[in-house]
Order: sequence, then C-alpha cells, then structure tokens
Amino acid sequence: MGKAYAFKLQFDVLSPILIGTSSRVGSIKEALKVGKYYMIPSSSWKGTLKREALSEALYMPLSQEAKALVEEHLRVSDEKFGVHSGSDCASLPQVKEKNGSVDVSEIRKTLEPELYHLMHQSLSVEEAKRYMCSALKSFACPLDSIFGSIYFTSLANFSSSVFAGKPEIRTKVTIDRETMTAAEGHLYSEEEVWPLDGLTLYVTLIVPERRILYGYTRDPGLITALWIKMLMKLSDLGTSIGSGKSKGLGLIKLNADKSQYAAIPESGESYSWKGLSEFLNKTY
Ligand SMILES: [Zn+2]
Repeated sequence: MGKAYAFKLQFDVLSPILIGTSSRVGSIKEALKVGKYYMIPSSSWKGTLKREALSEALYMPLSQEAKALVEEHLRVSDEKFGVHSGSDCASLPQVKEKNGSVDVSEIRKTLEPELYHLMHQSLSVEEAKRYMCSALKSFACPLDSIFGSIYFTSLANFSSSVFAGKPEIRTKVTIDRETMTAAEGHLYSEEEVWPLDGLTLYVTLIVPERRILYGYTRDPGLITALWIKMLMKLSDLGTSIGSGKSKGLGLIKLNADKSQYAAIPESGESYSWKGLSEFLNKTY
C-alpha cells in the first residue's frame, strides 16, 4: 500500500516576493491576487522545489542504478521534453504484432497501467519498446516519481499559498538593447510583496511500496531520502520563489521548528501533527 504523509511547511521570508501577472494597472505589473490576498500558485512551489531536488539529487548515497537514472535525468531535463532515453533497457515485456498493430495484452499482464496507458495501437513494435523502456526508467527515477513525468502524475502534491501582504511598488527602467543604456521613457513598475506572516505550503507525499519491474526499482527509501535532502537544503540555505530571483527577490527559508508533518493512516482514523525535525532525522 505504501505510505502517505502530509506536510505543513512554514517559510520565513527574507526579501519581498515578485509573483508577476500579465495584468497591469497603468504601467504597474500587478502581483497575483485573490480578493485582498496575495497568492503563490502551486505550480510555482512545484517548480521551486523540483529545482532544489534536482540540484541535490546527485549528492546523496545512490546505488549504481539510481545514479545512472539521476545522471540521465539531469542530462535530459535540459531538453525539450525531458524524457529518459528508451534505447538501452536490458529486458522488457514481450511486444508482438497483431493485425499490423502492437498487441498490448502481454504488456498489460506485467506493467502498471500508468506505464502503458499513453501507448497507442499505431506504434510500431520498435516504438513501443522505446516507449516502455523510457517509461520504466521514469518509474524508477526518484525525481520523476516525486514530481511527475509525461507518463504518470506526481507522488507529491502542492497547495497554493494565500497570504496577507504589504505591497511595495517599485519603478524600474528597461535597458535599451541597442545602446545598452537605461532607456528613458521606458519606465515600468512592479508590485513586490512582503508577506506579513511568512508563507505556508501544504504538501502531500505518497511513498509507494518497493517495486521492481524489468530490473528497474521504484525505491521508497530513495524517494524519502531525496525528499529529506531537499527539505534540509530549504532549511539550511533557503531558496528563491517567484520571478525576481536575479534581483534578489523572493528569498525564503524553511523554518523546520515551525513546520510539521503527519503520517496519514490508511484506515481514516484521525492523525496528529508532529514537528518536522522528527521527519528530517528519520533513518532510511
Ligand atoms: Zn527522471
């Protein structure tokens, strides 16, 4: 069955945040708002945490298999679709042709549905094999497992954050590309926001059971270890969120003492929140 966890992550805010929208009032780019409140969308959180996990993934104890997957992930994540290569799997389900199209009956017996549901009948046998090989690697890759891939949805799910904030309108100048000087008459303003009481992010994480498919292991220990490594980075060094990274905006740091986690019981009984540091000290 695996395990499910809920996290209530509390972030201290070290510099104002710039979550731009395309909406403008006059020449002011407005911050993302819902009613009177400001918002950080779940997609921003996911992108930020994924970036941190990516930068930490190689600096943890990895088996040879996991290391190869993480290295390949880092290599392909720069490319357009970011999918694992489908050309070098040692073994795969048998793929047969039936009436000129791929017969998926054999594949159905051994693979999880999420690993072949996008595989359509018009693929050639070779294409079907490449597809499965890439999907199997994605299944075993801890980064894809946590943050999702084209084959399946993510094991971690992120909330949006809504907060009360103090806006600061800052006027900036654009740089003239021809003369590389500040272009007069090209002034614009952006709404930066100081959250009044830090930021709260809710996350659920499913840690699945160990599963080995055709030599590729989806390893719950590895998924937990990477999650912890990423949280440690957020609490030790912090990160930045929003679109003002290069301007020193959006610096935030996880406050482990104020953050909490809970193991969600399978039976629907009530559960209690515990200090996050207990989770971070977990041996895995
Ligand atoms: Zn991957």
